[in-house]
Amino acid sequence: MSPDDQSNHWNVLMLEDNEDDALLIINHLETHGCDISWTRIETEPDLRKHLANDEWDVVLSDYSMPLFDGVSALRVVRELDPDMPFVFVSGTLGEKAAVAAIKGGAQDYVVKHDLNRLAPVVERAIAEQALQKRHRLAQDVLRKLSQAVEQAADSIFITNRQGEFEYVNPAFEKMTGYRAEAVAGRTPSVLKATQQNPAAYSELWETVLGKQTYRGTLVNRKHDGATFYEEKVITPLVNQAGQITHFVSTGRDISDRVKADEDRARLNAILEATTDIVAIADATGAVIYVNKAGHSLLAEIKPDSSATQAAGELIGNALGQAEKHGVWERESVLSGGDGQTIYLHQVIMSHRDQNGNIAYFSTIARNISERKQFEAELQHQATHDVLTGLANRVLLAEQLQTEMNRSQRRNSVTAVVFLDMDNFKRVNDSLGHGIGDQLLQQVSVRLGRHIRPNDILARYGGDEFVIVASDLENADAITAILDKLNRAFEHPVHVARQDIFVSFSAGIAVYPDDGGDADTLLRNADSAMYQSKADGGRAFRFYAPAMNERQQRLLAMESELHRALARNEFVVYYQPQAELASGQVTGAEALIRWRHPQRGLVPPDEFIPLLEETGLINEVGLWVLRRACLDMTTYTQTHGLCPRVSVNLSARQFASGELVQQVAQVLEETGFPPDRLELEITEQILISDLQASKAILGALHDMGVSVAIDDFGTGYCSLAYLKRLPLHVLKIDRTFVAGLPADHNDLAIVEAIILLAHKLDLQVVAEGVETLGQLETLRSLGCDMVQGYYLGKPAPLQALAETGALAH
Ligand code: C2E
Ligand code: CA
Ligand code: CA
Repeated sequence: MSPDDQSNHWNVLMLEDNEDDALLIINHLETHGCDISWTRIETEPDLRKHLANDEWDVVLSDYSMPLFDGVSALRVVRELDPDMPFVFVSGTLGEKAAVAAIKGGAQDYVVKHDLNRLAPVVERAIAEQALQKRHRLAQDVLRKLSQAVEQAADSIFITNRQGEFEYVNPAFEKMTGYRAEAVAGRTPSVLKATQQNPAAYSELWETVLGKQTYRGTLVNRKHDGATFYEEKVITPLVNQAGQITHFVSTGRDISDRVKADEDRARLNAILEATTDIVAIADATGAVIYVNKAGHSLLAEIKPDSSATQAAGELIGNALGQAEKHGVWERESVLSGGDGQTIYLHQVIMSHRDQNGNIAYFSTIARNISERKQFEAELQHQATHDVLTGLANRVLLAEQLQTEMNRSQRRNSVTAVVFLDMDNFKRVNDSLGHGIGDQLLQQVSVRLGRHIRPNDILARYGGDEFVIVASDLENADAITAILDKLNRAFEHPVHVARQDIFVSFSAGIAVYPDDGGDADTLLRNADSAMYQSKADGGRAFRFYAPAMNERQQRLLAMESELHRALARNEFVVYYQPQAELASGQVTGAEALIRWRHPQRGLVPPDEFIPLLEETGLINEVGLWVLRRACLDMTTYTQTHGLCPRVSVNLSARQFASGELVQQVAQVLEETGFPPDRLELEITEQILISDLQASKAILGALHDMGVSVAIDDFGTGYCSLAYLKRLPLHVLKIDRTFVAGLPADHNDLAIVEAIILLAHKLDLQVVAEGVETLGQLETLRSLGCDMVQGYYLGKPAPLQALAETGALAH
């Protein structure tokens, strides 16, 4: 700065008690080309105030003043602003004071009576102080910088162009274990670790020599030999000439981070490699991670939904439990749309943050389908017979107990049938075990085919089988099942090109009568089987003796009945019916008989109930109907007139739903005139379902077939019912006829029946007429027709023609 510089404007703070002196000084400066603004003060408070409040270029101070002194003023100025230019302008200053002034920090001094030096002195003082200020500030920055470098957490060092250490900070020492003195003059290659790929160094040098900043991670070695990962930044320092003078390296030990990364990568690799499903859901249950196995397994099972969705399903319904227990284990099932199912063993965990709030959920699920299947197979093996695949005695006992419990609740009967093959030992001994095994397999299959769907079939051991039939209404019902089995083995079993006839000895025990637990029932069935075997086999025995007799008889007859139709053992007898008015035989009742090869002619009362029970009645009843029509057609052809024929119907036939169609078909087949056919139905059958009866009777009526009420008077039928039905004939039960004419009660009843029947337009037939007295009484009561031994017993067709007219 020169005094004639236009910008040479100084703001001067003047400490001067004498105003004239002050003006003199300012004037002097102005005359020397300085542009001055100034303020004169003379006390310490003013000095402090002005220094604090305004910007000054220089302080000019008198040395001695009445209110203040120059040395104190200098101290105050230095205290408040060490860089403020300060020049003493005073009267004569002794040598000593002058030295003290300069030592105290004044830039210079000028004596008032020789102001010639003032302008250049002030100018120099200002310039000096500005320089000093810059210097001081730079020092300041440098100090702070070096402090920062010294205290930095990162390792910092500086090398020269040759790469020799010039400076290392304490963090470097700490990080590497090398003291500053130890590396002085050496290069960073002391840190080189053998693990480091040398390519990184080439890259490093290429970068920094190209005056670029290098950033990278190096594996380095500490003084003690331990390696560490250092994240480095190396900056070349370039001088004004563009030459690299130094390198500054900062580094940070990131071994922990690298290790954490490695750990995480390892864990991740494991998660991705495991065959277990691993999924993570956030605190709301939204899935945020599914591992590879999860993706592939879930995609396989649920191709239509995403793995995330499927995993959500897997976690979703367990959140509550996981939250409650922390760790929640269960087995779960995932089923896909195509029926594929996988079983999972699943652990669901809730993870909490420091505050104890749920942070996230995780689940690890293992596909245990194979194990499940294996377990199921084991379970099957443990409970099933290997040869036949049937339940073994372990499972049998369990299932039997279940059935017994059910029986108890339902109040029904459960039967245990113990079957033992009669001839198995012989087969085994003569044909070998291999064929014996095949036979057992075939037998088990055939048995299985002939039991009811819910019955249990088990192989008890050797050639012993057990059938458990439950939900039976009573013990009699078991005979139907046994009969079916018997018939199933009427045909031989074909094994190894041989026909082997199989029969069983069977023992039956019934719950609840024959035992309250599975063991007892099985034991009793077994002992009944032994009885049957002792009696020669090929038969069954009940554990309870009373059942045996009854069932034995019924069963024997039943199986014979099955064959009776095919063997043509049934015959139809006819019993004549005569008109009382004319005395002529005008009709006959068809009555079935069973011509049994040993027992001779069996009356219907002994086998009709059994036919009904077994359902055979439908077939046999149809046969009677056809036979009667055919017989009467024959009769018509030989005798020229066609009598009315009455055929009895059982309840089952009536309810079968096929009656009308069957009657129509038989009439059609035989050509028998419908108006000559009469069907006999008891009143119980009619009223059991009045609506259905009405429809059937209507259809028969339309066909021209007439219907008779059989055994009238024995039921509870009121004539009012009959009024509504299309009926034609009423047969008075023979128990009423028997009392005629002596029994007044019977007489009154028969009389009433006839009267009412006639009111309803019904013809009346009296059954069981055995005497002339009965006949006469009936005639006098207005009865239309009679039937009974008096006129003729039921007899074969030929006999009908020989029946004469009634005498009048
Ligand atoms: P029902 O329909 O009441 O048949 C009349 C029964 O009385 C016949 O017995 C007959 O032999 C007997 N009877 C006839 N006149 C006299 C008599 O003067 N005195 C005595 N004491 N009895 C006489 P039967 O033939 O033994 O038939 C018994 C029952 O078997 C029949 O009673 C009928 O309910 C049933 N029945 C016979 N044949 C068939 C048939 O083809 N189908 C059906 N569903 N039931 C039949
Ligand atoms: Ca009858
Ligand atoms: Ca009757």
